[in-house]
Amino acid sequence: MAGRLFLQIPGPTNLPERVQRAMDQALINHRGQEFATLTKKIMPRLKQIFRTQEGTPIIFPSSGSGAWESCLVNTLSPGDPVLAFSIGQFSGDWAKAARAHGYKVDLVELPWGSAISEDLAYEKLAADKGKTYKAVLTIHNETSTGVSTDVKAMRAALDRAKHPALLLVDTISGLASIDLRCDEWGVDVAVAGSQKGLLLPPGLGVLCVSNKALKAMESAQSPRYYFDWAPMIERNRAGIFPYTPVTQLLYGMDVALDMLLDEGLDAIFKRHHRLAEGVRRAVKAWGLSTVALKPENASNVLTAVYLPQGHDADALIALTENQLNLALGAGLGPLAGRAFRIGHLGWLNELEVLATLSGVELGMKSLGVPCTLGSGVAACQQWFLESKAG
Ligand SMILES: *Cc1c(COP(=O)(O)O)cnc(C)c1O
Repeated sequence: MAGRLFLQIPGPTNLPERVQRAMDQALINHRGQEFATLTKKIMPRLKQIFRTQEGTPIIFPSSGSGAWESCLVNTLSPGDPVLAFSIGQFSGDWAKAARAHGYKVDLVELPWGSAISEDLAYEKLAADKGKTYKAVLTIHNETSTGVSTDVKAMRAALDRAKHPALLLVDTISGLASIDLRCDEWGVDVAVAGSQKGLLLPPGLGVLCVSNKALKAMESAQSPRYYFDWAPMIERNRAGIFPYTPVTQLLYGMDVALDMLLDEGLDAIFKRHHRLAEGVRRAVKAWGLSTVALKPENASNVLTAVYLPQGHDADALIALTENQLNLALGAGLGPLAGRAFRIGHLGWLNELEVLATLSGVELGMKSLGVPCTLGSGVAACQQWFLESKAG
């Protein structure tokens, strides 16, 4: 198909050309001086992305799920009680990973579309009289529903309950798209992946580990080898890795970090808010509802949208992909066929959002979903006129 693909799924995201070019290089000796220089250039800037001074960034060759696993096995011992919240596919799957490793997961299941509230987290923590939970698993941005959780409020709940559990945060689709402050908010482990806000292809599991989590590592008894933090941190000091790293992705990360820090995190978060709000206004103009139940929890990373009953969201996704070169995210789990997701994260601007909305309208109209052509696009344009860029 002529023209470029509009990759508007909520990750992997559009790869900036600069990043793509940076990865088109010959391999180098991953135990040599040049490689060590690259690693040492990356780590301090990665800390800036996590907004940490005390934390230790760690990079594994893995998808985000590998980073989940790494977070768990380095901080917990089999049988440890942990508190987890399921508000969608990814938060639920992380809890499953914890069960698979033999931790005693107290899972609070909330309706898809909700966020984790500070009061609920506090209630669960305050009820744990013996302070037995070793960790709380939370999700910064639930990618299946388009809902963000206030991580600062999760820290407040722990502090209010005077609970010593570790705060473990899946920010795989949140990092570098919406605000996360590891030091200020007392995040013990932040778990991320390369293919979402970090502007890279999939392939890196990225973590930020607090000193408290490093202490927990010393007594954590879960078996681990590939995902063990200790040899990783030890070798990283010299700029190398305990096993073969993904050199090409690190070339890319070197440039992606420059791009993110040149734009500035606050500017990036503002841009995401502005683009997301444009999409939300379009959804409203179409007369459709978001999966996010409350507007204040709606994510600036992606928007999940219900089609009216009797219409198939998967047919819409197939049509836009096959006829318009526009890739939208499918509804996951119980949302399959009922909802579609518009990713509006990463390296993205106003016209790309408008083109995406226009593609959704064309697709809905072709499938007989009631909608006025141009209505969502116009609502979004109006918002872009009203709100200031940058
Ligand atoms: C994408 C995503 C994951 C899974 O990451 P993979 O790289 O596919 O393993 C987990 N959690 C969230 C919130 C995600 O968005």
